[in-house]
Amino acid sequence: MPVYNPPLRDMQFVMHEVLKVTDDFKAMPQHAEMDVDTINAVLEEAGKFATQVIFPLNISGDTEGCTLDQKTHEVKTPTGFKDAYKTYVEGGWAALSCDPAFGGQGLPLVVNQCFYEMMNSANQAWTMYPGLTHGAYAALHTYGTDEQKKTYLPKMTSGEWTGTMCLTEPHCGTDLGLMRTKAEPQADGTYKLTGNKIFISAGEHDMAENIIHLVLARLPDAPPGIKGVSLFIVPKFNVKADGSLGERNGIYCGGLEHKMGIHGNATAQIVIDGAIGTLVGQPNKGMQAMFVMMNAARLGVGNQSLGLTEVAYQNALAYAKDRIQMRSLTGPKAKDKPADPIIVHPDVRRMLLTAKAYAEGGRALAMFCSVLLEKAHNHPDEKVRKDSDEMLSLLTPITKAFLTDNGYNAATQCQQVFGGHGYIKEWGMEQLVRDARINMIYEGTNTIQSLDLLGRKVLGNNGATLKKFGKLVGALVMEEGVNEKMAEFINPLAVLGEQITKFTTEIGFKGLQNADEVGAAAVDYLRVAGHLVFGYFWARMAQVALREIAAGNTDPFYTAKLQTARFYFAKLFPETATLMRTARAGSKVLMDTDAALA
Ligand SMILES: Cc1cc2nc3c(=O)[nH]c(=O)nc-3n(C[C@H](O)[C@H](O)[C@H](O)COP(=O)(O)OP(=O)(O)OC[C@H]3O[C@@H](n4cnc5c(N)ncnc54)[C@H](O)[C@@H]3O)c2cc1C
Repeated sequence: MPVYNPPLRDMQFVMHEVLKVTDDFKAMPQHAEMDVDTINAVLEEAGKFATQVIFPLNISGDTEGCTLDQKTHEVKTPTGFKDAYKTYVEGGWAALSCDPAFGGQGLPLVVNQCFYEMMNSANQAWTMYPGLTHGAYAALHTYGTDEQKKTYLPKMTSGEWTGTMCLTEPHCGTDLGLMRTKAEPQADGTYKLTGNKIFISAGEHDMAENIIHLVLARLPDAPPGIKGVSLFIVPKFNVKADGSLGERNGIYCGGLEHKMGIHGNATAQIVIDGAIGTLVGQPNKGMQAMFVMMNAARLGVGNQSLGLTEVAYQNALAYAKDRIQMRSLTGPKAKDKPADPIIVHPDVRRMLLTAKAYAEGGRALAMFCSVLLEKAHNHPDEKVRKDSDEMLSLLTPITKAFLTDNGYNAATQCQQVFGGHGYIKEWGMEQLVRDARINMIYEGTNTIQSLDLLGRKVLGNNGATLKKFGKLVGALVMEEGVNEKMAEFINPLAVLGEQITKFTTEIGFKGLQNADEVGAAAVDYLRVAGHLVFGYFWARMAQVALREIAAGNTDPFYTAKLQTARFYFAKLFPETATLMRTARAGSKVLMDTDAALA
């Protein structure tokens, strides 16, 4: 049976020793009193929920899946899911980082993000039910009217109602401008919606008493394309003026998708048949509000893969210590046994360390983003809010795509550690590989993330925000440039920092002549940028570890951190040289291939 131990020590390391989050919180009135002990205590309890309540349902949920009653259109989630959700709601977990004005506990977002990392490790499919609610909550919190907020946010905060995001239609995935779902204005100010959505995560289930669908649709006079899309709240059950549930709305599940992984999560085909909805934000400005949800979801998807990377690593590590096969190349290590544990083999260590380096680098980035999000919303200084928002917008596509590509890679490497047993269901590794695969696809495929990064976030503002990240790198290089012990981390980082400026300018110039040059380079570019960001955080983590060791701290945690940093810079980071080379190969080798692709 798979194992999972919440990585509390590593979370505390990043949060308190590297990022020193409570220093940032001091400037924000709502978190000024937040202290290390409180955060750690909450995370410890959160870890218990993840391991004791939802982890035991991960394999059974995958095996059983969800079932749809075609007559009632009701979906039954796997055995135990509903009870686990009840425990989650009763424990107040849904409200952890929500606004106290709507019944939330108002804890910092980074605490909630760590909770979600643990829940994703324990059971990604289950975690998507509350996870989608957070995105819908964020969109309504930002763009809802006072009336909408009063009606929906308290119930979404408590977890009594869950949320969805309904964008995709059969003919319209990446290109939301092709959307056909219609919304007709009614005399009472509401709208009547008609259309078909597919692939809607947590779109129907039996875990909560109401489901609040956020639906993109077109008004009758809407301009064509993406500029004519509006956002609507369409509840499963209409809500009466006193807040109680009214009649069933015309939005229901017409079918469940049969899919590769996350079987415990209901991916619903949603039929919208004259459902009553209310407009969120301005007409034809639906994408503005939806982007609040999508950005939250993109960070959330990166966090899903972070969770999977961690749990895959933990299981592969335990297996590699236990499984004995062959002798070490340098002579027997377990002389009392007929063979050595496979962890003696260099390549098994490479696979394990790859997953570990991706998990720990990803954790630093994910937490950094949570702090940026907090500052963007809650910092009293407007400039800090603006700078944080810009930096977050640069790092969001990197977090989504780099962490999910790495997560799938890590899951397959950890499966490989198990040899043939990794392919067999009972060990749980093949499920992790299947579950990890979707994270690269939904919430905008990773190709779309790379176009967003290079086209909009980097070239779109002449590299201004990238330069700001470069300044963080530059400051670290200045601080540690003369420290010989840091040279193995700082030197490659400094070199990449310089290279990426030239690399970006080059692609920018080529892109001015031929836009396909940007499309041809984007995926490679995102990985290079991902390594710049990971390299920065790995160098900062190594810096803390070296300081602790120099001060006489003998906690093996710091030696482990240093060894993993060395592995990362020696074996993973150098991929950037190849990526820059393949990006420079340009668009011709892709576009002048009509004969090859005939
Ligand atoms: C299990 C699951 C859960 C989902 N959950 C939800 C949900 O809750 N709500 C929701 O609304 N949707 C959801 N989706 C839909 C998901 O977000 C889409 O599948 C995804 O955005 C891609 O759209 P598509 O499948 O139509 O692919 P397409 O848009 O048809 O893309 C096909 C391929 O073409 C590439 N491509 C498209 N345009 C470009 C371009 N300009 N440049 C380069 N490459 C391009 C894509 O990257 C992709 O590789 C879910 C999907 C799945 C499978």
